[in-house]
Amino acid sequence: MGIKYARYMTSVYTIRVLKLSFLVEGRINSMTDTPYRPNGSRHHVVVVGGGFGGLNTVKKLKNADVEITLIDKKNHHLFQPMLYQVATGMISAGEVAPSTRQLLRNQDNVDFVNGNVTDINLEDQTVTAELDDFSRTYSYDSLVVAAGSSQSYFGNDHFAEFAPGMKTLDDALELRSRIISAFEKAELTDDPAERERLLTFIIVGAGPTGVELTGQIAELANRTLSDVYSTYGTSAAKIYLLDGAPQVLPPFGKRLGRRAQRTLEKEGVNVRLNAMVTDVNEDSVTYKNMKTDEEVTLEGATKIWSAGVAASPLGKMVADQAGVEADRAGRVSVNDDMTVGDFNNVYIIGDMMSLNRLPGLAQVAIQGGEHVAKLIETKVDEESTADEKEPFEYFDKGSMAIVTRFNAVVKLGKTEFSGFPGWLAWLALHLTYVIGLRSRLAVLVNWAANILSRNRGNLEITTQQRIARNLIDEAEEEKN
Ligand SMILES: Cc1cc2nc3c(=O)[nH]c(=O)nc-3n(C[C@H](O)[C@H](O)[C@H](O)COP(=O)(O)OP(=O)(O)OC[C@H]3O[C@@H](n4cnc5c(N)ncnc54)[C@H](O)[C@@H]3O)c2cc1C
Repeated sequence: MGIKYARYMTSVYTIRVLKLSFLVEGRINSMTDTPYRPNGSRHHVVVVGGGFGGLNTVKKLKNADVEITLIDKKNHHLFQPMLYQVATGMISAGEVAPSTRQLLRNQDNVDFVNGNVTDINLEDQTVTAELDDFSRTYSYDSLVVAAGSSQSYFGNDHFAEFAPGMKTLDDALELRSRIISAFEKAELTDDPAERERLLTFIIVGAGPTGVELTGQIAELANRTLSDVYSTYGTSAAKIYLLDGAPQVLPPFGKRLGRRAQRTLEKEGVNVRLNAMVTDVNEDSVTYKNMKTDEEVTLEGATKIWSAGVAASPLGKMVADQAGVEADRAGRVSVNDDMTVGDFNNVYIIGDMMSLNRLPGLAQVAIQGGEHVAKLIETKVDEESTADEKEPFEYFDKGSMAIVTRFNAVVKLGKTEFSGFPGWLAWLALHLTYVIGLRSRLAVLVNWAANILSRNRGNLEITTQQRIARNLIDEAEEEKN
């Protein structure tokens, strides 16, 4: 009762603060009525989204005769492939999220704008971005839309309250707080059934993110936290990994999928395949076994969703104006050179584009960004005779996913390997992608500490992380 009351009071307080910023101050300060463009007559490129696609477009244009405005609603560039390590306390948030401004410090032809793009007008060639109560409209000569994707619940958005996904730093920190809080609450109860519910973790979606998170939660329970609670051993934790598909890690093929599944099962994970989730609520997840039609309900306090993605709604906004299709996941059909419809100065890249069935992978976004930059540079170079419409050709560099400690699966074309060599390959590759020497060293130290000592240096949780997400959603709903 006391805990509930305290939570309620904190909620009321937080809602008040949020309302204050979202609702009471709900005015918009428009900086000017005339769309903004940088001084001078150079070609102005607006890039929406500073993720893998957008950032690489900008960097590739470093020496081009253009002015660039990069707009992102976050002030950092997020290295999503290592988010699960933030969610499970292995590394800190800053190590995978360097400040975009600092990353672009040495590039003179770019302005960074921390703002949420709320409108794109293809006819007027303008983009509008807002930051709290500030708003500004930018005019562009070329536009690159690289706003990525968010979690999709396939029409069941109400699942999100109980089973958050992991796409942003906020998501990862909230998940960490849910996971650690569950262990903490299990220490407080004397009721064995309630303890079992608190120590049950259910992950929906057995793609790379689901598998990596599952493996790390198993390691937290079996190793890192195994002897730190006085009333129970965390190896009593039950971990379920559910997927509607008949195998784990479908893009990696059957052999690697089976290996990954066996490795997780050795760690005590219950893998349930052909399991189509039909309901998620505060206490449980219900799924239908697609082979037997049997309905199964699993009680568990911590649920995590990693089952699907939907492209940013900016995709549909652009598709509608350009008269092209957006598929069920909101991905926009683009031309071979990633332009949209008849607008040969508007490009959609990365997770938002639909082209030749390319998957939503970092390399697709990176190579797409570099390709578009080359096309724009060619366009503004008056002496160039190169073909502006050069189609995008993706070079597949392979995929890898960590399953558990010392164990990863790797697929490089027809070459497949797993286990310890896979794990070493994963570490080496991902370390090279971490941006900045300082972050790279910090990651390396954290990994080494975890290998040598069992401990993780980033298991702290804050009250804000624990309760704020749903309240922010509520306040945003009220605002709309
Ligand atoms: C947990 C996780 C693990 C992953 N692991 C791997 C992996 O191991 N290997 C791999 O290849 N791929 C992986 N991926 C996929 C990969 O991260 C994406 O394919 C890639 O990030 C897509 O790049 P993008 O530029 O299209 O979008 P993103 O990198 O997502 O960037 C989009 C940017 O747009 C910004 N934005 C969004 N909406 C707006 C708006 N309205 N206004 C302004 N800015 C906006 C966002 O803040 C973000 O910075 C993973 C993804 C996740 C979530």
